[in-house]
Amino acid sequence: MKGDTMTPSETAQQINIVMFGAPGAGKGTHAELLAKRFGLFHLSTGDLLRAEVKAGTDLGKRIQDTIIRGELVDDDTVVELVNQKLANEKRGIIFDGFPRTVQQASLLDTILQWTGGELSCVLSIDVPEEELIRRMNERARLLHRSDDTIETFCHRLEEYHAKTEPVVEYYRQYGLFVSVSGMGAISETNERLIESVEKMVFFSSPDDQ
Ligand code: ADP
Repeated sequence: MKGDTMTPSETAQQINIVMFGAPGAGKGTHAELLAKRFGLFHLSTGDLLRAEVKAGTDLGKRIQDTIIRGELVDDDTVVELVNQKLANEKRGIIFDGFPRTVQQASLLDTILQWTGGELSCVLSIDVPEEELIRRMNERARLLHRSDDTIETFCHRLEEYHAKTEPVVEYYRQYGLFVSVSGMGAISETNERLIESVEKMVFFSSPDDQ
């Protein structure tokens, strides 16, 4: 991970990023852009869970009401899915929407220990609550996701404050947590995120942390 002579392509396998942020902050959009930029595998637990619901699997049937209510799916189910997805993956990973509880964060540490990987940084996209609500109203009008109603969104936000925000402290203690503003154009936030990754991955030395 360390070393300032490496280029992104030389280190792509070693970069593992967690995207962090409230519902509507833009984790999915920015995870996709960073995955392309750094050659990473984009793992979205929301997409994985929705695919199970859409395919009508047993798991999908079990979790669909939870998702529609805007509650978190249980840790064991989510971690099991993540494990399956990572089993044969050789690229670095950008985790989008995971971990969402302190228990998931601790299990991710264990997964990375098994695979010999290491977390490079946790990128938090900061967006004020009024803007999140404005974005959600816009999304609800377009109705492209069954959990994008205002009621569900408010519940997702409550779950975020209660169960996901404590994950911030978990990562702060390791010096891995970086916050960037998610306001303004997508390209501006993308630039800020790229800069943060480069700082954390390519230019940090053990003494900086
Ligand atoms: P958003 O960040 O906008 O809420 P996601 O697509 O990441 O959207 O998640 C949608 C829903 O999928 C969540 O409200 C939750 O029900 C479920 N989900 C996604 N990731 C997790 C996770 N890591 N742990 C538990 N539930 C999850």
